[in-house]
Amino acid sequence: MERALADVRAQLGKEYPLLIAGDRVTTGDLLKSVNPSRPREVVGVHHKATTELAKTAVEKAFANFAEWSRTPAADRVQMLLRAAAILRERKLEFDAWLVFEAGKTWPEAEAETAEAIDFCEYYARQMLRFSHPDRPVQLPGEKDDLEYLPLGAGIIIPPWNFALAILAGMTTAALVTGNTAIVKPSSDTPTIAQKFAEVLLEAGFPGSCFSLLVGSGAQVGDVIVTHPKTRFISFTGSRDVGLHINELAARPQKGQIWIRRVVAEMGGKDAIIVDRESDLDAAVAGVAQSAFGYQGQKCSACSRAIVDEAVYDQFIDKLKRRVETLSVGPSDSPDNYMGPVINSSAKKSILEYIETGKQEGRLVAGGAEVKGDGYFIQPTVIADIESGDRLFQEEVFGPVLAVTKARDFDHALQLANDTQYGLTGAVYTRNRDKVNKAREQFFVGNLYINRKCTGAMVGAHPFGGFNMSGTDSKAGGPDYLLQFLQAKSIAEKVD
Ligand code: NAD
Repeated sequence: MERALADVRAQLGKEYPLLIAGDRVTTGDLLKSVNPSRPREVVGVHHKATTELAKTAVEKAFANFAEWSRTPAADRVQMLLRAAAILRERKLEFDAWLVFEAGKTWPEAEAETAEAIDFCEYYARQMLRFSHPDRPVQLPGEKDDLEYLPLGAGIIIPPWNFALAILAGMTTAALVTGNTAIVKPSSDTPTIAQKFAEVLLEAGFPGSCFSLLVGSGAQVGDVIVTHPKTRFISFTGSRDVGLHINELAARPQKGQIWIRRVVAEMGGKDAIIVDRESDLDAAVAGVAQSAFGYQGQKCSACSRAIVDEAVYDQFIDKLKRRVETLSVGPSDSPDNYMGPVINSSAKKSILEYIETGKQEGRLVAGGAEVKGDGYFIQPTVIADIESGDRLFQEEVFGPVLAVTKARDFDHALQLANDTQYGLTGAVYTRNRDKVNKAREQFFVGNLYINRKCTGAMVGAHPFGGFNMSGTDSKAGGPDYLLQFLQAKSIAEKVD
């Protein structure tokens, strides 16, 4: 890992062109991504797309769809398996890019690269299934078939917080099913997107089947979302941007002959319930890991601990002691448990939420920035937060945990569900009846019992949320590729 960090450090500050359906294009309008641990360090310099180039990218994706969709599925699957193999060979290099551009610590970076590899392997094999679907019921005198077809030209919009894994998952799902794709990475992490595009090309994906369109979401985003040739949008990011895209995409444009499909995976306000009948040390460890891993910047991060009043004070005591041992600093040093938050505006907004939290509740740990060049914030715990408080209801997306007291288990469940979101949740209890009640009543897309609420594994924990957390597409699950396919039934009369 030290060697990989040194190799990648030597490549920092390089310039990258746009990739438009196989062409390398420069515009001279440059975006610099920086290392959030040391913002003076430029990670990559990227040419930004104009609105004209954004339109060209959609038109080329539309034009190239016919050829790419006719490439045999088995060939596309082989390309994707090769991409997984290349990622595996370059794993430490990708870890290092995530450390420098996304501020991931070594273990968080390693987990993310591994997840990207899993997505490639898993979707490749799922595509084999969809390319040989089960035969439907055979009516007498007929040969009945069902085939899955790709949709067309799609837009892939990932967030910065899983700049590799989510980008790779959404992009490869679109491509392996036979769609062409325009990938618009987050402006915070475009270099990682460039590095993944290199992998796709090296694995044999033709340059014509995708574009990498770096540019401001607000500027080029609306252009590609509303283009009449755009068939679908696969988005992962915040609630507000997801709703905006959903609304824009719903309006048909002149010349458009389909209803655009929107898959939007959005934010969370994830809760862990700590019952009076639980292993309190395990619960403290699970809450701390879920709340502060990657600085709380996961959609699945625990941002509310809902604790039974019988163990409330004891839980807070233990949590405070644990949280105060967590070290914060540059993420390239393996000594730090937490790195920086992603950028200066995230830092500002998180610190404002902390001030709000201090008014609404009682500060238990942290509560301030950490001095240094980077965007560092202490892991912060605020107790006595009530369900009507902003800290209970709004996604902070940083290292800030609200702790709320519940009268009993039923009350805890009621509090956990008192949110517009419904992404992940966890329950710590030894009582089987309570486990069963949570399985039935805790309204989240991903529920965990007696373990942390982050760290969904591809294949084992298909991922996606309810309500304002999104369209519940279940990334890394057996149904995910259906988001990128449409089914055609064919009945042929036979003698
Ligand atoms: P964001 O919504 O700010 O940005 C997401 C992407 O949308 C970026 O690529 C951005 O450039 C782009 N974008 C912004 N405006 C756009 C527009 N008008 N048109 C098209 N694209 C536009 O989110 P973020 O800060 O990158 O990521 C953090 C958010 O993502 C959090 O809310 C988190 O909970 C959520 N998230 C959800 C999941 C999930 O699976 N549900 C996973 C990871 C992150």
